[in-house]
Formats: sequence, C-alpha cells, structure tokens
Amino acid sequence: MKMVFGILAGILALSLASAPARAAGVPAVAAYDSVLADHAATLTDPKAATEAYLAAVPADRRARTANYARGNYIYEVVEFVFSTLLLWLVFLKTGLSTGIRNWARSRTGSRSLQTALYWIVFALALNVFQFPLMWWKAYRHEKDFGLLTQSFGGWFTDYCKGMGIALLLGAIGLMILYAVVNRARKSWWLSAWIVTMLLLAIVQVVAPVYLAPVFFKFTPIHDQALRGRILAMAVAHGVPAREVYEMNASRQTDRVGAYVNGLGSTMRIVIFDNTLRRCSADLCLGVLGHEMGHYVLRHVWTGLLITGIVLLVGLLFLKWAFERAAPGLGIEGIHDVAGLPLVLLLFGLFNFFVGAPIDNGTTRMQESAADAFGLDAARYPDAISRGYLMLGEYRDLDPSPLVEFWFYDHPSGRRRIQMAMDWKAAHPHAP
Ligand SMILES: [Zn+2]
Repeated sequence: MKMVFGILAGILALSLASAPARAAGVPAVAAYDSVLADHAATLTDPKAATEAYLAAVPADRRARTANYARGNYIYEVVEFVFSTLLLWLVFLKTGLSTGIRNWARSRTGSRSLQTALYWIVFALALNVFQFPLMWWKAYRHEKDFGLLTQSFGGWFTDYCKGMGIALLLGAIGLMILYAVVNRARKSWWLSAWIVTMLLLAIVQVVAPVYLAPVFFKFTPIHDQALRGRILAMAVAHGVPAREVYEMNASRQTDRVGAYVNGLGSTMRIVIFDNTLRRCSADLCLGVLGHEMGHYVLRHVWTGLLITGIVLLVGLLFLKWAFERAAPGLGIEGIHDVAGLPLVLLLFGLFNFFVGAPIDNGTTRMQESAADAFGLDAARYPDAISRGYLMLGEYRDLDPSPLVEFWFYDHPSGRRRIQMAMDWKAAHPHAP
C-alpha cells in the first residue's frame, strides 16, 4: 500500500524509486548469454526451455544480483525499524512534534496555515534524519551495483525536486484532510477515507502528464516502423492512443521499461529510450503488449479499489490504536496536527505487516494477467523471455517462495518465463 506517507508516496516514488541503472566506472556484466538464450529458444518442452533460459544468466551476474537484492531486503527492515523509533522517540516522546505545532500556532491564527507550516518543518526534519539511510539506498547501493547513471549532483537535484513537490502537495493534501477531519469529528475516519481516495485518484491522473515531465523529457518516437507496429497493436486492443512517446530514462538509469496510462486526453504510450536502445523491436512490442494489458484490464482502477479497502481497514486500526497511544504525548486528538508522527507510525506498522503483503500479492496477480495479455497481443514468447532475463540485472530471477511472497510486486523471472514457454507450447504457429 502506498499510503504510509499519505498522498505523497506516489510523487516521491517518481523521483526516488525510479532511481536504478549503469554507472560509469562499474564494469558491465552481460544480462545474459545470447548464444545460450538462442539455444533455449529452440527447445519445445516448456520446462526444459525455462531452465535453459535461466541458465543463460552468467553465474557472476546471478551472484551480483543476489547481493544487490539482499541489500534491499535488509534495507526494508532497517528502514522500518529506524522510522518507527525515530517517530516515537524523537518526534513524539521528546515533545518535538507538539513544539513544532505550538510554534506554528504562534505564527498564524489560521488552522490551515498552521497545518501547512507544521508539515513543512516536520517533513524537512524527518528528511534530515532519514537522509543517510535514503542516500545509501537510492544512491550508494545503486551506484555500487552499477545501476545508477547519475552523478551525485544530478541525483541530489532530482531528490530536491521530489522534496519540493512533496512539500507543496503534502501541504495542500494535509490542509484538506485536517479540515475535513476537524469538521467530521466522530466519523473522521470515514471522511478521511473519502478524501484520501479522491486525492489518490487525482494524483493517478495528474502524475504521468504533469509530474513526470519535471524529471524526464518526452518526445515522439523516431523509429517510424516500430511506431506503426505499436499503434497497430494499440488499435487492435482498444487502446485509444495516437502517438508513442520516448522518455529519456537513461538520464537516471539503464533499466528497460515502458508504460501505458492516463485518461482521455492524458492517455499516453511511453517507452524508455533504454528499451529502444537495448531491446529488439520484437521485445519492445512484447513489453508494450504487457503495458497495454495493464491499461485494457484497468489495473490502475482495480488497484485503487483494493488500496481503498486496505486503507479503510487501516483507518479503523488507526482509530483504535491512536486512542490508546496518544494519551500522555500532549496531542489534543486526531484532529491535532501534532499527532501526525503518531498517525504515520501506526500506519507504518499496519502497512509493514498487513498493507504491503496484500498490495504486493494483488500487484503480482495484475502483473501475471498483464503478462498473459501481452503474450496474446504481441505473440513473441522468446523475445519477452529475454526481457525477463534482463530484469535479472536488479531482481533475483529465482527467489525462495517466502522472499517472493513478502518482497516481490512482480512474479519471479522463473514464473514469468515459464508462462511464456507454456504459451509458446500452446501456440506452435505463433511468429
Ligand atoms: Zn507490469
């Protein structure tokens, strides 16, 4: 669930989570051996072909990815424990949070402006404390494994831009939320739920068109032959797009990717420049077939619906836990902005143990459905399997079931290749 830090997570995710790819100075290790992949493509038995594809990833690449992934899992746990302790010990127990609220009250009589002032000081302080961990994860760790193309200066500029957007949109979102909670009193959780869902829906529509250009440039794709094939596939599957855009993801990363989203006039088919540079035309089609699957199957909206259900349960948990934890902290009630660190802490707990596993599980199901859609739409099971092998640059292709359950928001590479090979066996005359 992306709700832990309210409506901001999606925006921050744009700037931070999209961090990976290849740094200068780090020797590149091939994603896979193409001779072995060619051999895998000749096998007709799905099981044998899947094993052959997985075996095409060199041992040093596999070991490297395993190390990289282990760092990420450890980070998740450390970050959760650190943030919980930080909010409890530093912001709540010492009275720092009530201090910031009292300061905001001394500056202005307007409740809304008090909320905005509180948020700006609190978010900046929180970021100062969290910066070393965040820097390690989004910069150092990515750089160590050759997954980040940016220098520290470029990375830090993007970080500051993301921060600026988070401060601004966070202030607006919280002003609205606290005004609503204030008015609703007893049924505050229901009002907060409705408002948060509306804000999330707005961010979903606004982010790809208005926020993504803060970080990346979008230009119509140059390759006219590929453009024609992509638009023909779009028409055939009811995707109402008239143009294909290329995004300069390479300014941050070497990762391969694409997306198809938006509503009405904000509808976009976007492919990363990395994908165009590193992948065959057939693989580009395969990737976009998958992305069109997300669009046609309305995954943004079903995802939002599931998030809504989880959020509602989370808010009821928050109501229960807040009433028990708040006394003695100087917080005047749920409507008091000084309680924001407690709200984030309790949401963080709920999210770590309940929200995130549910969110990952449903996302994995959506990804599987998009894979199946993409195979039917593009019909290139071998090309897409090579794409799955490329994901082995930053994702363990064959994780243990427990790791896959807890941390993966996509099916494992093994599962995805197996699906492509099963599809191929069932469609012997596909191109
Ligand atoms: Zn997907």
